[in-house]
Amino acid sequence: IPSFAGEAPSQAAEATRPLAAVTGAELQAPLIQGGHVRYANLDYGASAPALTIVSAYLNEVLPYYASVHRGAGFASQISTSVYENSRNIVREFVGGRPDDSVIFTRNTTDSLNLLAGCLPQIDGRFSGEVLYLDIEHHANLLPWQGVPHRSVVAASTLTATVDKLRDELAQGGVSLLAVTGASNVTGEILPIAELAALAHEYGARIVVDAAQLAPHRRINIAESDVDYVVFSGHKLYAPFGAGVVVGRPDWLDSGTPHLAGGGAVREARLDSVSWATGPARHEGGSPNVLGAATLARATQVLAGLDQDAWHAHEAAIRTYLVDGLEAIDGVTVHQIFTDSDDTIGVVNFSVEGFDAGLVAAYLAAEHGVGLRDGRFCAHPLLKRLGLPSGSLRASFGVGSRLEDATRLLAGIEGLKRNGL
Ligand code: PLP
Repeated sequence: IPSFAGEAPSQAAEATRPLAAVTGAELQAPLIQGGHVRYANLDYGASAPALTIVSAYLNEVLPYYASVHRGAGFASQISTSVYENSRNIVREFVGGRPDDSVIFTRNTTDSLNLLAGCLPQIDGRFSGEVLYLDIEHHANLLPWQGVPHRSVVAASTLTATVDKLRDELAQGGVSLLAVTGASNVTGEILPIAELAALAHEYGARIVVDAAQLAPHRRINIAESDVDYVVFSGHKLYAPFGAGVVVGRPDWLDSGTPHLAGGGAVREARLDSVSWATGPARHEGGSPNVLGAATLARATQVLAGLDQDAWHAHEAAIRTYLVDGLEAIDGVTVHQIFTDSDDTIGVVNFSVEGFDAGLVAAYLAAEHGVGLRDGRFCAHPLLKRLGLPSGSLRASFGVGSRLEDATRLLAGIEGLKRNGL
């Protein structure tokens, strides 16, 4: 695997690819083939299907799979090189600063829990509070409940929400603003750079939960002055099991080791230890080399996409779906903010008089459409939006087709016409 034996290949060096070149063969198959209906996957927001290049790369590295950092053998050296280069690739993908740490974890949830263990302390007490909005996924909400925290109910506009956060920050005492890059419920994008500037104005840092944003938009944490970014491989067209936290090394190097064990130490004694610094501090045990490598490979593919074509593709499906849903009597499309002007490939909606879970089951069984129903691990937001028993979420991305949305619309129309 020569590309990884030496320098990390530059993302810029990857030729710009049209969307069709990176999606799975199954996704490009005709809608009806041999009497079978192709599965319309509208659940990318939960996990996005692996790209063909990512699957091929998995097969390429699999034979070299060996424990990293611990062996002088050929396979171990290759694995170590693949693993360590994956950090550089991911750092480049998020526009990280040269000294930013890149720590591999299991997923976004794991990354945020790791960061919660690294908040600054003075004499064993947390030296500040974490501030977050009520729109967050539980992964960016529950880890902070174990430390001093404050929450803010988002306003009906993004502008007023930023003002509310400013008021809260101005009261002082906040060390970290934890915010999602894009809502996993509605897809609305938050103004990260503006929030980073605001947090810094009041002496706080910012972590962006980019689990949803990273698979749809390029992020540049150095340009946006974001301190930490976290995301998961499985939402980014790579397999399950790997996530990442990228950001400023000082808190990370002095925080509680996330996984105490082999590799995380400088020196272990029978009843005491001096911990390593750098990513090793948090990556105790044998790491997920294949997860990190495929996550990194997926970032290269996304970085190499024609960005305008990619965004236009998703925006076209979204507009088509929103218009189609709104034209159906009794269907409501949900949003958090009335002034959001950019949204990833997510549409959230309800069908009046029908339980969301039953609608999802009907769409799967009768129309071969897969989407998500429920409360999307965002219970406080769903309650506030007046959807305590949940709604439906269609989500899509690279490889999705207009026909997938058409099938969903036909399903909802059929439901309205004939009932369940
Ligand atoms: N944050 C957001 C915005 C999400 O959408 C999700 C998953 O849906 C997560 C965090 C948690 O991701 P994971 O399950 O990969 O830890």
